[in-house]
Amino acid sequence: MRFCDKCGSKLRAKPQTHGGKTTVVLVCDNCSFVLKDKKSVAKVMRQQAEPPKRSIKIVSKEDEKIKTLPTIKIECPKCGNKEAGWWLLQTRAGDEPPTQFYRCTNCSHTWRQYS
Ligand SMILES: [Zn+2]
Ligand SMILES: [Zn+2]
Repeated sequence: MRFCDKCGSKLRAKPQTHGGKTTVVLVCDNCSFVLKDKKSVAKVMRQQAEPPKRSIKIVSKEDEKIKTLPTIKIECPKCGNKEAGWWLLQTRAGDEPPTQFYRCTNCSHTWRQYS
């Protein structure tokens, strides 16, 4: 981190273009002081660079859907689990009854039941 020589505010790395050439300088947002010292610029840029992202456990949209589904006590034909999320889907023309889908809360097996 580098501070402004004039007012002590934190300086920010900012690219500046002069005659088609872009150089990064450190600017003060407070008093518009500009520092062109290359070493300081490099140091600040390193600090400003994003830290390596930690591996985040990504919850897929499908998983999210299962969580928000209403559940029903029904036996999964695949793993024998006694609970499944369910939803209705109008698959064809509106005059046909909607199909009820189930998704096992244990193994995510999805099946349908025609009424
Ligand atoms: Zn300043
Ligand atoms: Zn299952």
